[in-house]
Amino acid sequence: MTTLPNIAWIGLGKMGLPMAHRLADAGYKLTVHNRSMDKCAELVAKGAKEAASAGAAATGNDIVISMVADDSALEAVALGNNGAIANAAKGALFIDMSTVSPAISIRVAAAAAQAGVQYLRSPVNGSVIQAAAGGLGILSSGPDDAFRSAKPLFEVMGGKIFYIGADEQARYLKLSINIMIGITASMMGEALAFGEAGGLDWADMVDIIASSAAGSPVINYKTDTLKDRDFRPAFTARQMAKDFDLALTSAADANVPLPVTALVRQQWNAMIGTGRGEADFFAYVELLEDLAGIKRS
Ligand code: NAP
Repeated sequence: MTTLPNIAWIGLGKMGLPMAHRLADAGYKLTVHNRSMDKCAELVAKGAKEAASAGAAATGNDIVISMVADDSALEAVALGNNGAIANAAKGALFIDMSTVSPAISIRVAAAAAQAGVQYLRSPVNGSVIQAAAGGLGILSSGPDDAFRSAKPLFEVMGGKIFYIGADEQARYLKLSINIMIGITASMMGEALAFGEAGGLDWADMVDIIASSAAGSPVINYKTDTLKDRDFRPAFTARQMAKDFDLALTSAADANVPLPVTALVRQQWNAMIGTGRGEADFFAYVELLEDLAGIKRS
């Protein structure tokens, strides 16, 4: 029987917690760290060790995985004297699964190279339901031998696993997919508000659009929550704003125009400005209903 690597897991938010649970349930020995330490309790109850900092979590473990909010969170947990990279053993593997910019990822890559730590960028497709069910899509780039060692772990967390290059390719692809998903919420919101104004039944309309040529996997995934108008967040409007900003900044650096992305970015401002920043990004339809004066009984 081969021995499983020991894992440090950093970041136990909406995604990180169910992903770490899957590894614990698969028998991996975890050391966990989260900025708000109370979120470690569930995994400690399953036998994980708790660490007071990202650096302390990384110390002595074979593989360090981070799943945190954004660029500044990744900077805080990966870089600096108390960060994961400075404290990981030479030859250890650092995998970041957060959605962050190519720019911060290049800085992490440089620090990892200097410390003799291997680095994989491995952001995920899917949301909290897929994270809990082990059905995430995983986009990975970095050294191919590191990918091969990480693959058994990825198979515990995900179904569709892609190795797509040696550098920042996974960062670009993740942002490309997320702008398409955000734009889909915009299209769906407009279609639904328009249909309501025409007297359509809400649930029928959602079902029929989902099964039409304009339906897509993300619309189908959202069908039930839309029918129930359940806008509790799987991914908030504020989080989508963050990903649009990352894409727009990276595209500007490369002189690639993203006119539709730039336009739809404004809707996330409107969501946040009207107090909907912490709602799911598909709640955009509610804002359009308000603007259109649509009253629901
Ligand atoms: P979340 O629930 O907001 O959790 C964010 C995590 O980052 C928490 O553990 C938080 O710690 C930590 N964090 C935030 N700022 C930090 C800082 N400055 N220093 C250290 N830790 C910090 O986010 P999530 O939904 O799990 O998303 C995590 C990542 O996955 C994001 O990059 C997101 O874009 C991406 N993603 C999310 C989804 C989704 O559907 N939610 C899907 C695919 C990808 P605290 O608990 O202390 O706040």
